[in-house]
Amino acid sequence: MFAYPPMHVVNPATGEVLRDVSEADRAAVTAACERARAAWTAWSSTSVALRCEVIRRFRALAVERAEALARTLALEVGKPITQARNELAGLLPRTDFFLAELEGVLAPEVVLTSPGDRLEEVVHREPLGVVANISAWNYPWYVGANVFLPALLTGNAVVYKPSEFATLTGLAIAELLHEAGVPRDVFQVLVGGGGVGAMLLEERVDAVCFTGSHATGVKVAAAVAPRLVRLQLELGGKDPAYVCDDVDVPGAAAAVADGAFYNTGQSCCAVERVYVHERIWPRFVDAFVSTVRGYVVGDPLDERTYIGPLARREAALVHHEAQVADAVARGARVLTGGSRVDRPGFFFAPTVLVDVDHTMAVMREETFGPLIGLARVGSDDEAVALMNDTAYGLTAAVYTADRGRAERLLGRVDTGTAYWNCCDRVSPRLPWTGRGTSGLGVTLSRDGIAAFVRPKAWHLRGV
Ligand code: NDP
Repeated sequence: MFAYPPMHVVNPATGEVLRDVSEADRAAVTAACERARAAWTAWSSTSVALRCEVIRRFRALAVERAEALARTLALEVGKPITQARNELAGLLPRTDFFLAELEGVLAPEVVLTSPGDRLEEVVHREPLGVVANISAWNYPWYVGANVFLPALLTGNAVVYKPSEFATLTGLAIAELLHEAGVPRDVFQVLVGGGGVGAMLLEERVDAVCFTGSHATGVKVAAAVAPRLVRLQLELGGKDPAYVCDDVDVPGAAAAVADGAFYNTGQSCCAVERVYVHERIWPRFVDAFVSTVRGYVVGDPLDERTYIGPLARREAALVHHEAQVADAVARGARVLTGGSRVDRPGFFFAPTVLVDVDHTMAVMREETFGPLIGLARVGSDDEAVALMNDTAYGLTAAVYTADRGRAERLLGRVDTGTAYWNCCDRVSPRLPWTGRGTSGLGVTLSRDGIAAFVRPKAWHLRGV
């Protein structure tokens, strides 16, 4: 057996240690990858029906244990319990989508039948092999499952490195999958911090699927580049919303505030910048600030809580303070919040800034928390220019009563996802993909299943 060093799992709402776990060392990382390689061919030879059956059992177990799993998520990530339940519930339609679409994606595709020269051309789709899945803590059931479910269903083995801030959830995912019938070596969890992720990248794997920040994503890409390993990167964003002058102001303000502050603002597709047409500016700002002031900040296990602590603890608090200080030094005004909350744990008050511009970090760099800047714009063209003034390209939202206006605006915005009168939304049926520094590749949709197979071209000539 390996002697692993201990790692603390901390409750960000209190700072207390929830549990000590053992962090994988290099020998354990290597051994996990070797076991996965030995196991994957047998798994890939099982029938599609059997793999679907196993994942159906996993789904049933997730339903049966949803409340306990939501509680674990609330405790270790600080996610408000109602939102943790939503995440568990949201796992189900994703699972159902993958199960329904799998056979269609895997079916051999006959692209030519030519009886005259007895020729047939067929595309078969084969699994990749061993997939390294390095995941983020903010939606571990979503972003993890977007990778491990289609990877397992298509016949791959997965070595899963959850974020150290979602370790218990990572272990719970493995427990459910194993109980459902996924062989232990076909899905393995490596417990540990970023160093364990870095070690995993040095092993022989066939694909790396990473969800996390742009800064770490660049390191991941550099680590695997010399081996030309298949790479998928789901990275951060600085997602804009533009509110036109023809909206129902209170409704739009409440919807955009929810898009900015849900999950305590810690969503890759959270609204991070808001542009508001000058004709509705004062009314919108008032409605927005009054919505935000109504959010209950508190214990994630309390049913009333809407804003929890920051999962990355002190580092995240310092990051928020620095963005506020930078903005204020450059002329921004704080309309509500602006500082830590005076209580145990790692809470930042929901914060709204105005008089912001793109010289400020808060309008350029990912915040990933309960802090938002609102900027006034004079025209649709100005809004489009500002929405595109970013290296990121994950999502963009437009609020207007006019669908044509929304489509014209969103057609000019360089993002993988476009929202009309909605935001901070993910669908299993649609591709989830970032542009620019928001990443490479696709999860979800049929393309997100096909991402875990590679085509083989068959040229078949009869006698
Ligand atoms: P990080 O980039 O800090 O970490 C992501 C994962 O990488 C974690 O498991 C982390 O381990 C691990 N890691 C850290 N350093 C290395 C390294 N050198 N080599 C390999 N692995 C490493 O991101 P967060 O977990 O804080 O997640 C938040 C970020 O994720 C935000 O930028 C957010 O926008 C993005 N995100 C993007 C999504 C998308 O779909 N586009 C979805 C969800 C989040 P550990 O945490 O233990 O340090």
